[in-house]
Amino acid sequence: MKQYPFLDLGRVNARYAEALRSAGERVIASGRYVGGEEVDALECWLSGITGARYCVGVSNGLDALRLILEGYKVLGRLHVGDVVMVPANTYVASLLAISEAGLRPFPVDPDMSTMNLNAEGAARAMTPDVKAIMTVHLYGRVACDNELHDLAADNGLLLIEDAAQAIGAKGAGGLGDAAGFSFYPTKNMGALGDGGAVTTSDPRLAKAVRMLANYGSDYRYHNVYKGHNCRLDPLQAALIMAKSDDLDGANDRRRKRAEMYSKVIANRGVITPVHPVVPEEHVWHQYVVRVPGFRDRFRDYLASNGVSTDIHYATPPHKQPCYAELSGMHLPVTECLADEVVSLPISDCTSLQDVVEISNIINTFTY
Ligand SMILES: *Cc1c(COP(=O)(O)O)cnc(C)c1O
Repeated sequence: MKQYPFLDLGRVNARYAEALRSAGERVIASGRYVGGEEVDALECWLSGITGARYCVGVSNGLDALRLILEGYKVLGRLHVGDVVMVPANTYVASLLAISEAGLRPFPVDPDMSTMNLNAEGAARAMTPDVKAIMTVHLYGRVACDNELHDLAADNGLLLIEDAAQAIGAKGAGGLGDAAGFSFYPTKNMGALGDGGAVTTSDPRLAKAVRMLANYGSDYRYHNVYKGHNCRLDPLQAALIMAKSDDLDGANDRRRKRAEMYSKVIANRGVITPVHPVVPEEHVWHQYVVRVPGFRDRFRDYLASNGVSTDIHYATPPHKQPCYAELSGMHLPVTECLADEVVSLPISDCTSLQDVVEISNIINTFTY
């Protein structure tokens, strides 16, 4: 029987093999293995595509978000114990960044149809303790509009984007005060290892993040802050840049698969995702359907027909053992989504023809 893998990174990266190899060889020959031109080139490229004035390459997406928050602490904009609003259905790393920075995550239900936080939900949940909103472009869909921007501005809040899943989406990384990106291998533009970046148009934050990521140092052997070692490797920077010419192409291919799924899937038991009015505002890191009531049977049925699926995410952060202090929160939309969501294959391992075949298998599922 034909198999439809959910994601096969070896196959995804095969198309870039030659460019990756020559990037690796260039770094070997350069003799420069921390910082340098390769990292500069990535920073220049990402600030260009996001429209942010500055970019700082860092070790991974979690560190990117944590360094933004720590940066605002050293600048006096945030203080220990401040509350940061965050969508409750995000990946746990969004909350971990807040906790690691000594702040308090305040998970809020997203909108059921977009599965993203919106201004209405954020306003409803707002309290005087909230000092920042971390919006998450979950599944690759931009979750920041003028209303959310105005809500943050009107309340004097920082607006931080978790753009880990949304590289290349229209506006992502240039919409808030600062944004964190991830180059984790499974992301839309993955490194061959860990990597991340911060974008911002705030020169003071950019400088603080760069220092915090490099032992808190502004120049050699001079340490202003008790910083970290959270730098981006030039090797990873070079490997990421080897894929940069194809970012829009890769995101377009994902968008075409998403459009095909939504066109062909016709099963009353399966709710397909709502597409944004502006297609470029979604880069479809995941194509997530909802299957209320019989998700496990649906996944078993697909598996028995060779289709691998995944769940993002089965356990929301506030139900994780590490967030016992949040376990009493009532977040009905998030808890409902956690029981219903199923991610279908959408990477470069899945052809448009595969999408049609998978959709037809879905259409023969009876509940
Ligand atoms: C992947 C991810 C992160 C963390 O990025 P890493 O590079 O894996 O540390 C943060 N937030 C979201 C929404 C993510 O998907």
